[in-house]
Amino acid sequence: MAAKVDRHLGYTLTPLAQRLQQVIATEGPISVARYMDLCLNDPVHGYYRTSAPIGARGDFVTAPEISQMFGELIGLWCAVTWRQMGTPTPLRLVELGPGRGTLMKDALRAIAAEPLFHAALTVHLVETGNRLRATQVECLAGQAIEWHENLSEVPEGPILLIANEFFDTLPIHQYERTDVNWHERLVTSGKNGFTYILATKPSTLDRLGRVGDVFEQAPARLDYMADIAARIKAGGGAALIIDYGHGKNANGDTLQAVRAHKTQPVFAEPGLADLTSHVDFQALARTAAHETAVHGPVRQGKFLRTLGIEARAALLQRDATPANAHDIESALRRLIDSQQMGDLFKVLALTVKGAPVPAGFENLVTGGRTW
Ligand code: SAH
Repeated sequence: MAAKVDRHLGYTLTPLAQRLQQVIATEGPISVARYMDLCLNDPVHGYYRTSAPIGARGDFVTAPEISQMFGELIGLWCAVTWRQMGTPTPLRLVELGPGRGTLMKDALRAIAAEPLFHAALTVHLVETGNRLRATQVECLAGQAIEWHENLSEVPEGPILLIANEFFDTLPIHQYERTDVNWHERLVTSGKNGFTYILATKPSTLDRLGRVGDVFEQAPARLDYMADIAARIKAGGGAALIIDYGHGKNANGDTLQAVRAHKTQPVFAEPGLADLTSHVDFQALARTAAHETAVHGPVRQGKFLRTLGIEARAALLQRDATPANAHDIESALRRLIDSQQMGDLFKVLALTVKGAPVPAGFENLVTGGRTW
């Protein structure tokens, strides 16, 4: 092991912190990916196994929780895409990491206006978090839904797949640039809590960087993306992936812990805070481009405006009280303004090669793109 990096001192000895100490005592320093995975998915103390993270009283708020318009527009996007696909029946409507179930509830309400599509689909939620699954059951009561631990469990055939803020939770590895090479960052445990150290052996990463730069790689995200693309190639369909991140890969440490709507040091409260990082859309697009056509990424603000969110907001405001109309306006701004979620969040779509360009991705200059 080489240079010790002491950036995140101060932490609470949570049950998960004790579990991490045991793992590190047995296995030695662990990768950032393993740290993230244990924090989020440890079967007993993991964040997604134990907490109710989403919403005003949780730790973070996502687009479907900001406004019903988000899920409704995605529902309509699915209906239009299904028509572009030639109305295959049955169609599997799949959501990865559905949170509280709000997006699917709003989407299905919008889809009900398209009875043929509604009748053609079966709904599949891929969710590993027990507490969130219970919330989804409640939120979607009365709907026929199947739950799965993994995409591979969803029955064969054409799919329409939605993933909002799903990829950012899948674990990343981090590499730090020294004067000659990139070394993987590992997490170890000492008197003052958890700290980063660098693996002695250099990684095989070959890219430019200045001393101290961090680069992130997420094989778990690429594996998931490859599964989605293979599935679309084999059975037909499309996917819509929405997340925060960058369109072109870049150096930078983007791992963040959030609890009660505030960011905190990554090692402060293991298991009690959400851990996510920026999604590298370029890497996702490159992975899928072998098997499918890739559209975007396009900024969320532009995507939602193209789908007509402003008209939908105006319609909702027409019948609202002044106070509600004001809330609808704030929600709209939050979703589409560039200083809010409009630019940082991006949308990527996959379709079968040669299929029509999906709604919201028209007029993008994609010719000659090298992802
Ligand atoms: N899409 C929701 C929730 C985003 S939070 C929304 O927009 O509100 C991330 C979601 O992914 C949670 O539901 C979490 O339990 C789920 N999740 C995290 N890792 C997962 C995995 N490996 N497989 C399936 N679901 C996962």
